[in-house]
Amino acid sequence: MSENEDLEEKKLLGSGGYALARITEDEEIKANLGIPQIFLANVGRLSEDRFLKYYCNVCGKDFDGSPIIKYETPNEELGQGVVLVEKGEYKCKNCDNIIALYRKFNK
Ligand SMILES: [Zn+2]
Repeated sequence: MSENEDLEEKKLLGSGGYALARITEDEEIKANLGIPQIFLANVGRLSEDRFLKYYCNVCGKDFDGSPIIKYETPNEELGQGVVLVEKGEYKCKNCDNIIALYRKFNK
């Protein structure tokens, strides 16, 4: 059994476009918050090979493969035990438009 067995192709919505990527059921449950749409911001960082293509609202077209993924791990204490572990963005490789932003907290 390959580890890709449980991956399903899904449309992940972002503020500046959307992406088609293969995600696991767990990732989907975590990201859809009980509504049918899945937001890229809630999925967080996926490896580039999970992406089939993405659509950029600014370019108005699809691109094959992954958007550019940029992230940092500030480990910034926000108070009351909440730590910003990682923040990142998915950007269009053609025009730099931000497809989606995400933030990952310690809880
Ligand atoms: Zn673009």
